[in-house]
Amino acid sequence: MKKYLVFFALIIFLSTPLAGTAEQTAASQSAPPAAVSTFAQDDTLFVVNKEVRLTSEYIPQDLVTPRVPTRKKSLQDSIQLRGDAAMQLEAMFLAADIEAGHTLYAVSGYRSYGIQQINFNNKVDESGSRDRAMRTVAPAGASEHQLGLAMDIQSKNFLNLNQGFGETQEGIWLMENSPRFGFILRYKKEWSDITGFSYEPWHFRYVGVAHAKAIQALDIPLETYTAYLAALPAYAIEGGSDVLLAGLVKDLMVGNQQQLGILMSKTGGEEGALRGATKKYLPDNTTYEQALWAVYPTPRPTSAPRLDDDEEVSLFQIGG
Ligand SMILES: [Zn+2]
Repeated sequence: MKKYLVFFALIIFLSTPLAGTAEQTAASQSAPPAAVSTFAQDDTLFVVNKEVRLTSEYIPQDLVTPRVPTRKKSLQDSIQLRGDAAMQLEAMFLAADIEAGHTLYAVSGYRSYGIQQINFNNKVDESGSRDRAMRTVAPAGASEHQLGLAMDIQSKNFLNLNQGFGETQEGIWLMENSPRFGFILRYKKEWSDITGFSYEPWHFRYVGVAHAKAIQALDIPLETYTAYLAALPAYAIEGGSDVLLAGLVKDLMVGNQQQLGILMSKTGGEEGALRGATKKYLPDNTTYEQALWAVYPTPRPTSAPRLDDDEEVSLFQIGG
């Protein structure tokens, strides 16, 4: 039954024109498609926005403090992230330093429901109305910071969280390189009708390397991406390379379901189907294994064993 509902929601979504035009009202785009909610709250792809909110009970269970610098020591208390996201954030800050000489600072990670409530109420008092407050601050439960998967970032050379950050070398580096570490620039200018948030060049959301790279290649907001992804079987969402995910979503956007059919029929088992469905999208001179290894630092079952002490280095080499 649930499958049918998802399918039905997807059909409705797929029949809605995606290319946003100025004529389309904000109301028709701001409500994300129902299919978005098919991901569990703990899934790294779960979408939170002003339409889909978290309850006051939701607290991620694996929060840690990444070992990255903050502008002030006291800010270390507010930069928690979930385990994988924290590890990748550390790698990203290190790469920014080594590759480009940029000193990044973490500003704000996990934000509890209670803190969001205080922030929002303060804004209501300050602006004089709930509606006005809504324009700049998310009401409690509507901030994806509560997922422990989002980080606000500034740099030593630009100590503000404002749109000017997007013009700085550090902001540009992050926008281009963050997908290598599983992060996406979540709120682009062009997407505000869909995301419900205005341009925030400092806000990065962790979704995992394969999905981040696919989203970067597709250049679409997370709401749109996850709505299409809901049509895929779980094993493909979890084990597909960015090459497969981006190619498949692009095909689904124009109504081509051929490769999706391969995945659904599991021809040759899950591994065989992934291989078969990916084939069409592989760039010249790239093998299926290369596409897979580029986004999964952990060796796949089909790969040769790798020595433990290679791992720290490989995280950066593979990222390239
Ligand atoms: Zn943020």
